[in-house]
Amino acid sequence: MATIEGQVRVSHKGAARIRRGHPWVFRSDVQPPRGVPDGAVVEVTGPRGVKLGFAFFSSRSEICLRMLERGERLADDFLAVRLASALAWREQVATGTEACRLVHGEGDRLPSLIVDRYGDYLVVQTLSQGTERLKAEIVGRLVENLAPRGILERNDPKARALEGLERRVGLLYGEVPETVEVIEGGVRLEVDLWKGQKTGLFLDQRENHQAAAGYARGRVLDAFAYNGGFGMQVAARVEQVTLVDASAEAVARAQRIAEQNGLANVLCREANAFDLLRELETTGERFSTVILDPPAFAKSRAAVPRAARGYKEINLRGLKLLAPGGFLITCSCSHHVHEADFETIVADAAADAGVSVTLVEKRRQARDHPVLLGVPETHYLKCLVLRRGD
Ligand code: SAH
Repeated sequence: MATIEGQVRVSHKGAARIRRGHPWVFRSDVQPPRGVPDGAVVEVTGPRGVKLGFAFFSSRSEICLRMLERGERLADDFLAVRLASALAWREQVATGTEACRLVHGEGDRLPSLIVDRYGDYLVVQTLSQGTERLKAEIVGRLVENLAPRGILERNDPKARALEGLERRVGLLYGEVPETVEVIEGGVRLEVDLWKGQKTGLFLDQRENHQAAAGYARGRVLDAFAYNGGFGMQVAARVEQVTLVDASAEAVARAQRIAEQNGLANVLCREANAFDLLRELETTGERFSTVILDPPAFAKSRAAVPRAARGYKEINLRGLKLLAPGGFLITCSCSHHVHEADFETIVADAAADAGVSVTLVEKRRQARDHPVLLGVPETHYLKCLVLRRGD
C-alpha cells in the first residue's frame, strides 16, 4: 500500500492552496504529468520541486489532485489508520445509532470515499479514480474491521461520470436484501439501500431530526419529507403531522413506515411542495411547526440567484403558515449558498411575511459528516430553528 506511482507538479496558486490545508487542487494549477495511471497516489511538488505532500491523481476530473497528506511522508498503512480514526469518531458521536456515516470523504481525510452503515450492512461510494483504484483494499479492510453481512456499492452519483467512471450499483461483498430495517430514535425505518435516494436515508439530518423532536408541537408540516425523516421522529409528541414529497416512492414508503410504527397521526401527501404551500395558505391552514428540507436548489455557483429565489419563496410561504409561537425549522443543503446568505434569505422572507422571528439555533450536518475548518465546501448543510413571536 501507499505505492507512490508518480510525481505531479503544481503552480504557485496550487501550492498556496495545499499549504492552507485545502484538499483539492484544480487542473488549471497542475502541470499535466506523463505516464501516471488514473487514480494513482502521487507525490505533489511545488513549482520549484519543493515536496508538498501526496494526493490521488485524476486524469479526468477538474479536481485533478485530492490531497491525502501534507509533508514528506505518506504512511504505508494510511488507509488503515484513517479508517480506524473515522470509526473511533463514530463510536463517540454515533453510538447507539444503527444508521450513520462511517466515512465522509474529505472530512475524514479519505477524499472521495463514502461509507454508510445501516445495521449489519454497509454502503460504499468510491467517487474518484483514486478510491475506485483502491476499492478492493477498502472492501477488505471494512470486512476485517466491521464484519458486515453485506456491502453494496452505490456508485450511481453523477460525480463518477466527471471522473470517467461508470455509474453502477452492485454487490461488493456478502448479500444485501431489497430492504433493510434500522431504528432511528425509537422509530423502525424500512430502507431501500439499492434504489433509495442518497444511500437510502438522509443520514446528514440525523441529529437535526432528533433536535426537531425537542421543538415540534401541535400540527406539523414536514415539507420535502422523503420517507419522513423529520416527521416520524416528531410524530409521537405532536397532534398531527402532514408529510409532503413530490416522489411517489418516497411517499409510499413513508406511509408504510407510519403504519408499521402505529403512527396514525401521520398524513402522507404526494405533491409539489411549492404548490401545496400556496394552497394551504389560500385555505387559511395554520401549523405550529413547519419543517422545510428541500433538495439542493443550487448545484453550481451560477445557479445561486435562482436558488435564492426558491429558498425565499418556500420560507415566505412557510412563515405565513406558522401560528404565533410556532417553530420554523428550515434547511439548505446547497454548499454554494453559505450560512450567512441563507440567514439573509430567510430574514428577507420573514420581513415580506410581516412576521417577527427569533433565531433559536443554527445547526448543520450531523457530526458524522465532519466539516473541515477553512474549507467551506465541506459545510454544506444548514439548518436554522426559528420561533415566531406570539
Ligand atoms: N427531509 C428528508 C430529506 C429530504 S431530501 C429527511 O430528513 O429524510 C429532499 C426531498 O425533496 C426528496 O425526497 C425529493 O423527492 C423531494 N422534492 C424535490 N422537489 C420537490 C418538490 N418540488 N416538492 C416536494 N418534494 C420535492
